Amino acid sequence: MKPPPQLTVAQRKAAGLKAVAARRDRAMVKNQIAEGSISVFDLFLDTRDSVLRMKLVEALMAVPGIGERRLEAIMAKTGISKSRRIGGVGRKQIEQLREEFVLMKTPPKQGKLMVVSGPSGVGKSTITNKLKSDPRFWVSISATTRQKRQGEVSDVDYKFVSNEAFIKMIDDNEFLEWAEFTGAKYGTPAKPVFEALANGLNVVLEIELNGARQVRKNAPEALLVFIEPPSWQELENRLTNRGTESVESTQLRLARAKEELKAASEFDFVLVNTQVEQVVNELVSLALRS
Ligand code: 5GP
Repeated sequence: MKPPPQLTVAQRKAAGLKAVAARRDRAMVKNQIAEGSISVFDLFLDTRDSVLRMKLVEALMAVPGIGERRLEAIMAKTGISKSRRIGGVGRKQIEQLREEFVLMKTPPKQGKLMVVSGPSGVGKSTITNKLKSDPRFWVSISATTRQKRQGEVSDVDYKFVSNEAFIKMIDDNEFLEWAEFTGAKYGTPAKPVFEALANGLNVVLEIELNGARQVRKNAPEALLVFIEPPSWQELENRLTNRGTESVESTQLRLARAKEELKAASEFDFVLVNTQVEQVVNELVSLALRS
């Protein structure tokens, strides 16, 4: 048997550095595949030795949506050996892989549209804010002409716009629904809602009664949930004590709350907000149950 080649110290050092660089290249392309900035198919055009010597399965496992089981299926269907390196994959096999990728790209299941309504002060925002940290949900950000309250953040709590800008948005057909509420306009921009639904997210609209009615009419598949206070007294206390409104606005909101509470039966579900966590859990199970 031939003895292994004797390397000088300098040659060993050079080989070590080359191996480190190759590992770095492979880690980099895997990251790029994972974040979607390149595709596995770009690797077949790569000229770096480090990439061409990488195993195909390693690159495939970096693709979002490919796990052990899917990988097994792809390798079985294309007949490519698991030990095959990128540089050794033939043209025909690349075409077969492409076909598998086209089949994989079935769009995600459309998410559910969910309306959370109820009188001002009942705790809708506290509830929907909790849903913001759940990756299965996307809470719509409304446009409004009302004044920003202390502590509110533009483009997080609302898109605060002028009356003129709001009217232009109405004219440009940008709203899924919009309504007047105690002297200001509020509306749901339609485009981000449809995008989130198409991406499989459950979309939550936190809106007042007239907006909820428009959604019922225009999107009958939507799930309409009404939040009730534990008692009228409790609602009155919450609205008066939260200190965000003038006396006049509080009175207007209380008068409006009386009207809204009468409409609870128009909704698919009524939840009483005695405990926020419980209402959040109920909303999650309503959205996910079918
Ligand atoms: P607030 O001024 O307390 O933030 O909101 C007043 C009311 O307007 C609340 O009942 C809230 O749910 C509702 N609202 C917020 N955004 C929208 C929206 O885009 N459309 C409709 N119709 N109502 C909204």
